[in-house]
Amino acid sequence: MHAQRVIADLRELAARTSTDDGAQRLAWGPVWRDAREWFKGKVGEIGLRIETDSAGNNWVTLPGRSAKTVIIGSHLDSVPNGGWLDGALGVVAALEALRMNVSPPPPVTLKLVDWADEEGARFGRSLLGSSAAAGSLKVDEVRELKDRHGTTLVEALSENGVTLDRMLDSHLELKAIDARAYLELHIEQGPVLESMQKPTAVVLGTFGVERNTLRFTGQAAHSGSTPIAMRRDAFLAAAQTSLECREIARRHSKPGAGVVCTVGVVNVEPKIVTAVPGVCEISLDQRALDAEVLAAMFRDAHAAADRAAGDNNVAVEWRPIWRIEPRLFDASLVRLCEEAVREETGDAPRLPSGPLHDAAEMVPHMPVVMMFAYSSNGLSHCKEEDTPGAHLETTIRAYLRLVEKTIGHVANAQPV
Ligand SMILES: [Zn+2]
Repeated sequence: MHAQRVIADLRELAARTSTDDGAQRLAWGPVWRDAREWFKGKVGEIGLRIETDSAGNNWVTLPGRSAKTVIIGSHLDSVPNGGWLDGALGVVAALEALRMNVSPPPPVTLKLVDWADEEGARFGRSLLGSSAAAGSLKVDEVRELKDRHGTTLVEALSENGVTLDRMLDSHLELKAIDARAYLELHIEQGPVLESMQKPTAVVLGTFGVERNTLRFTGQAAHSGSTPIAMRRDAFLAAAQTSLECREIARRHSKPGAGVVCTVGVVNVEPKIVTAVPGVCEISLDQRALDAEVLAAMFRDAHAAADRAAGDNNVAVEWRPIWRIEPRLFDASLVRLCEEAVREETGDAPRLPSGPLHDAAEMVPHMPVVMMFAYSSNGLSHCKEEDTPGAHLETTIRAYLRLVEKTIGHVANAQPV
């Protein structure tokens, strides 16, 4: 019954905020505000109210017999033409957890959070609200951001009552909470659970990322007159490195601890059919849950690029784009999550998360765990995004169990 009510609410939200092309809850825009208005009504029905922090994150507090707090939630914003479950599942399931605990008051305080602008779909900065609350947002790095219509982030924020220079105040507000756990239910957005034919998984943490540009420099030359042995072909060095990176990912992957390497951008110069490429730039994105494995993959990629450069008589240079360390979830909460998933499904698969989530921003500040729901065909950020009904119900039931277990765990924890 609880799970069915969550699904009915999700359908209602989707009907209200989607077009034939999918969900349109783009952060800071009118449809997103309407989704939040709808949610405010749902919260009002159980006698609670929304409070907005300095970063535009919405909070609902259900006071318990203790100030020790369990935070539950996700995000209501979507990408344009997005799916009905990405983000919304975690918020609406959290609402059901509040409904179940309204009376009698729970032994610990429950706070629901709807993070603002998780997707970063409009201004290119993901996890905006949660990174502000975590204190990791660098406001000067986002000050000049514009959307494709030329509206600045600062303007879009102010339309929503948020001042960029005050966003980090939300960090003080978060620190004032006696937070003992953060729980987030989210759709997997990938094909792994489907391939295992499992509805639900325990998430172990979010991948660390090493993202770099590699620039290979050889010599542009005439394609007709330059013998193969005398070429300094920058593209071939890049191609050889790319193939090696696939082997590096294979070599470092273990069952249950997959890693990935992706070359997503390839640019050659002079880009002429009759010229040997003198310059080739590729992007390399490497991800792993284990920091040592990620460091080893990075070293291996360097060695592979040096070897490919030597083989092709070209030079190679590395330029960092971005990096983040792996964010591992809390061992005790992972255990509770396993219990909840196993009790509901008979099994508890454990997965890392490839995408980042708001939960990753909470890891330095409190114990965190996430639960994943099965993604049909591994699809997300599109209108086809779905979880089969029976799997969705099972997952929601497992999540509600996790919330109850966590409330008990936090209530009974000895003071540290
Ligand atoms: Zn999401």
